Amino acid sequence: MNLILFGPPAAGKGTQAKKLVAERGMIQLSTGDMLRAARASGSDLGKKVAAIMDSGSLVSDEIVIALIEERLPEAKATGGAIFDGFPRTVAQAEALDAMLARRGDKIDHVIRLKVDDDGLLARVAKRFAEEGRADDNPESFKVRLQAYNAQTAPLLPFYARQGKLTEVDGMAAVDVVAKAISAALDQPAAGAAEREVFTASTDADH
Ligand code: AMP
Repeated sequence: MNLILFGPPAAGKGTQAKKLVAERGMIQLSTGDMLRAARASGSDLGKKVAAIMDSGSLVSDEIVIALIEERLPEAKATGGAIFDGFPRTVAQAEALDAMLARRGDKIDHVIRLKVDDDGLLARVAKRFAEEGRADDNPESFKVRLQAYNAQTAPLLPFYARQGKLTEVDGMAAVDVVAKAISAALDQPAAGAAEREVFTASTDADH
């Protein structure tokens, strides 16, 4: 099973992904973590993306698509992948579908963590104080939220049309959110409903 954890920065995607890894033997594919690791290693890629990340803007689609593609074989070999912070643009979402299809695989669920802006700002202020992530400073965070609203939120209808989207209250306590996610994942995998609709309309046509 493959799922996308969807939501703005600091919605709790990373926290929930780690719980799912522990409970379901899945792997977490976080492009943010991969890019931070590249920076920490001092690689050319890390140097290339550092300033963009600190500003709060998105790095190029090509870079993150390549990072994800490299890791997809691991998803097939385990209980599936939790995509965290990817895809963030329509081009990334289309590339992800195509990369999975080439492997006979697909996205089964998209879980949207719904959060309110005030709650988010409070969370990020706390995280900035505790962890000091450069892109959590108020100016960069504003850019990250703008990038989410302009480039990432438009993906929601893309997944809703595929019948894969479930919304969960991301402001609830961590364990309550985790339970809601588990309940959504234990629903039949996406696609069944689409097939039913397809059969029904085919019957009606003939
Ligand atoms: P995150 O930890 O997911 O919020 O990612 C931190 C930063 O890494 C983002 O603000 C972007 O600069 C970059 N980044 C992470 N994932 C992506 C992605 N899928 N597309 C473009 N940029 C990304």
